[in-house]
Amino acid sequence: KLYNEVQDLKGNIRVYCRIRPFLSGQSAKQTTMQYIGENGELVVINPSKPGKDTHRLFKFNKIFGPAATQEEVFRDMQPLIRSVLDGYNVCIFAYGQTGSGKTYTMTGPNMTSVVDWGVNYRALNDLFIISQKRQSSIAYEIGVQMVEIYNEQVRDLLRNGSFQKRLGIWNSSQPNGLAVPDASLHPVKSTTDVLELMNVGLMNRAVGATALNERSSRSHSILTVHVRGLDLETNAVLRGCLHLVDLAGSERVDRSEATGDRLREAQHINKSLSALGDVIFALAQKSSHVPYRNSKLTQVLQSSLGGHAKTLMFVQLNPDVESYLETISTLKFAERVS
Ligand code: ADP
Ligand code: MG
Repeated sequence: KLYNEVQDLKGNIRVYCRIRPFLSGQSAKQTTMQYIGENGELVVINPSKPGKDTHRLFKFNKIFGPAATQEEVFRDMQPLIRSVLDGYNVCIFAYGQTGSGKTYTMTGPNMTSVVDWGVNYRALNDLFIISQKRQSSIAYEIGVQMVEIYNEQVRDLLRNGSFQKRLGIWNSSQPNGLAVPDASLHPVKSTTDVLELMNVGLMNRAVGATALNERSSRSHSILTVHVRGLDLETNAVLRGCLHLVDLAGSERVDRSEATGDRLREAQHINKSLSALGDVIFALAQKSSHVPYRNSKLTQVLQSSLGGHAKTLMFVQLNPDVESYLETISTLKFAERVS
């Protein structure tokens, strides 16, 4: 409810930017981030080419600079996440090149340290706390699904032993229906349950991949939280759904160098990220035709993109001058949808 009050003219789509810090050992490098404004302005420069192509200004609903903590980032999104308990569908995703901090924002660098927890854990934790507070009037049930989309194939990350199973997508006309009903749905009662499931998901993600990081940067991973609330006085049932998405790296693959599997992967990633851009662009334009069917990613997310659903995109940036071209291409993607 609070979220509605802070919505701007863009309606249900908000775009946030997060710039990660230089990592240790990187500190000697130059930054392209010239100015980070309190009202969401960002000025990017190319310091290695002074004079040419100098300043570019971009504007976001909000910017988090390199010093922003996980807790600060989460606090800002809390009303949006809580609206799921009021029956809204919400989609939060992180977009950016590999190494820009997508996984850091969504999952965190590791699961052992609570201060480093990303949006996923914090969101579920918060939903448990709030649902328990409300339990005298509404009985909530929370369930979790976790899938990966790799080369336009959807896989259940929480079904042990059937990792290779390809899933169909149920294109439901029913509002708030399960987006991927073929994927196992796991009831969760506590943050501990969630941590256990996410461990299973991360382990399954590693199966068949020689290097987890390699593979994870070329697939989209989607954690879906389904909420069902029964109003104990009126018996009315409400349903809400939260999609938390760590997208594949947006970097362009050099066509002259990539061949075989690598080229195929790159083509699938390009296709699905542009399909996502097209859907959000159509929604932002209030276009009557929204092209959900062009990729598995947009089909899976359909119930929480558009309609009364609320969308938040994190544009993740690497401050390094060597990333200048990728940074500009990421910012252009964001500009188009915002
Ligand atoms: P991506 O998922 O986009 O490929 P990662 O989330 O893996 O990128 O981030 C790349 C590296 O940068 C990791 O070592 C991560 O811990 C670190 N990192 C990213 N964002 C931050 C941040 N805000 N603060 C500190 N370290 C960060
Ligand atoms: Mg990652």
